Amino acid sequence: AKSQGGNQYCFNTPDQNMEMQRNYQLEMKLRKALENEEFTVVYQPLVNLNNGQMAGIEALLRWHNPELGSVPPSEFIPILETFGLIIPVGRWVLYEVCRQMKAWQQQGIMMERASVNVSPLQLKGGNFACELKEILTETQLDPSYLELEITEGTILQIKDSSDTLDSLQEIGVKVSIDDFGTGYSSLSYLKQLPIDTLKIDKSFIDDLDADGEFLVNTIIHMGKNLKFKVLAEGIENENQLSYLKQQKCNEGQGYLFSKPVQKEEIPNLYHQTNRP
Ligand code: C2E
Ligand code: CA
Ligand code: CA
Ligand code: CA
Repeated sequence: AKSQGGNQYCFNTPDQNMEMQRNYQLEMKLRKALENEEFTVVYQPLVNLNNGQMAGIEALLRWHNPELGSVPPSEFIPILETFGLIIPVGRWVLYEVCRQMKAWQQQGIMMERASVNVSPLQLKGGNFACELKEILTETQLDPSYLELEITEGTILQIKDSSDTLDSLQEIGVKVSIDDFGTGYSSLSYLKQLPIDTLKIDKSFIDDLDADGEFLVNTIIHMGKNLKFKVLAEGIENENQLSYLKQQKCNEGQGYLFSKPVQKEEIPNLYHQTNRP
C-alpha cells in the first residue's frame, strides 16, 4: 500500500496488482531474453512516393518468449527502458541491422538506408557515439546507409541534444525525427539541428480520413522548406496515399505498402519495386 498524503492509505486495486505482477514477470524474462536469443528484428519498407521504389527499411524489434509467446513492443520496450536493459538490447539491434544491411548490399540490394529506433537512455549513456563507430567498423557498413530514429520527445529529454546530434553527424550517420508533431516542442530547434528526415506521426495521417488535411499539409511544407525529407507514417489506404503524393510528401510507410516482414522477404519486395 502506498501513502497518498494525509492520513489516507490507498491500496492498489486488483487491476493494478495484476499489472505489477505481469510487469515483474516480463522483467524477469527480459533479463534473460538476449542471451536466450529470443529477440528478432523485422523490417518495414520505406517507400519513395515519387517513383514507388523502396528507399529503405525501418528495423523493428520483436520478442518471442517460449512461455509468454509474442509480446508487443508497446509492452516490453518501456520495461527494457525502466531497467536499463534497452542499452544492451539496443546495441544488439544496431549490430544486427548493420550486419544485415551490409549482407544485402553484397547481394546487390542497394537501398538508401536502414533506419533504427534509438531510445533516450542509449543516447544519454555517453558511450553511444563510440560504440556506434565500433559497430560500423566491425560490420563494415558505410555510415551514410544508417539512419537513427530519435523521437521529438527524446530531443527534448536529452540536455545536450544538439551536441549529441552533431557527434552523430560527424560519424556520418543520418538522423530522423520520429513521431513528429506529438512532442509539443518549439519549432525553433528544427533549423538548428542536423536532421535528415521528418517522420510525420501516424495520428496525423489517420486524420486525413476526417478533414485533417490542413495540419498534414502544413507539416509537409514546413519540413520541405527546412530542406528535410518528409515521410508519412502509417499509410493504410489509397486516399491517404493520393493526398500525400499530391502534396509532394517525399516518402511513406505503412500497411498499404507492407507490414513489417522477416529479413528473408526483403529481397523479393525490393526486386518488385526497384527494377534496374
Ligand atoms: P515507431 O517507431 O513509431 O514504429 C512504427 C510502428 O507503427 C510499428 O509498430 C509499426 O509496425 C507500426 N505501423 C507501421 N505501419 C503501420 C500502419 O499502416 N498501421 C498501423 N496501425 N501501424 C503501423 P511496432 O513494431 O509495434 O513498434 C512500436 C514502437 O515500439 C515503435 O514505434 C518504437 O517506438 C518502438 N520500437 C520498436 N522497435 C524498437 C527498437 O528496436 N528500439 C526502440 N528503442 N524502440 C523500438
Ligand atoms: Ca520509428
Ligand atoms: Ca514513428
Ligand atoms: Ca510511435
